[in-house]
Amino acid sequence: LEAKEEFSHKTLAMDVMRPRRSDPPLSVLTQDSMTVEDVETLITETSYSGFPVVVSHESQRLVGFALRRDLTISIENARRRQDGIVSTSRVFFTEYTPPQAPSSPAPLKLRSVMDLSPFTVTDHTPMEIVVDIFRKLGLRQCLVTHNGRLLGIITKKDILKHMAQMANRDPDSILFN
Ligand code: ADP
Repeated sequence: LEAKEEFSHKTLAMDVMRPRRSDPPLSVLTQDSMTVEDVETLITETSYSGFPVVVSHESQRLVGFALRRDLTISIENARRRQDGIVSTSRVFFTEYTPPQAPSSPAPLKLRSVMDLSPFTVTDHTPMEIVVDIFRKLGLRQCLVTHNGRLLGIITKKDILKHMAQMANRDPDSILFN
């Protein structure tokens, strides 16, 4: 068997990552264009453990990763402290917060709850390498990019499901995966 052929049969990160082709797009946060209400809506309408933060929907450049739990706690605290944070407050994951117009509410700075260097792999990374990285680094999730654009996410559970699927296949096909 040629090495090249063997490679073409390998499962890649893009085959395991979510969303699948037919799924709705990845739920992401943008670094400086969402309101507190937008973030709260995302949190209540989805059940994901975390959300990638991107520069903008257009660029899909990855900035970091924020856990649902940390977002919820930070927003609750900010609202409770009543330091001017309301539904229409703009949320910033950026280092710099531009001065707000006098008429607009106080901004909510959430950069400190964001993981600034979430683990990423490219869409063509073979799954055996991804599995190895998850094991060695004890990852909970990993983001998948292509040319610097965010494409998807792989969680530890996605990996476990993938491995269970592989184990259920007939031995011949496993040989070539
Ligand atoms: P787990 O995989 O442990 O259940 P999650 O609840 O975070 O963790 O994810 C559930 C499923 O949704 C997984 O298949 C994962 O790949 C996918 N997923 C996780 N986060 C997001 C997100 N922000 N947007 C879209 N899909 C996501």
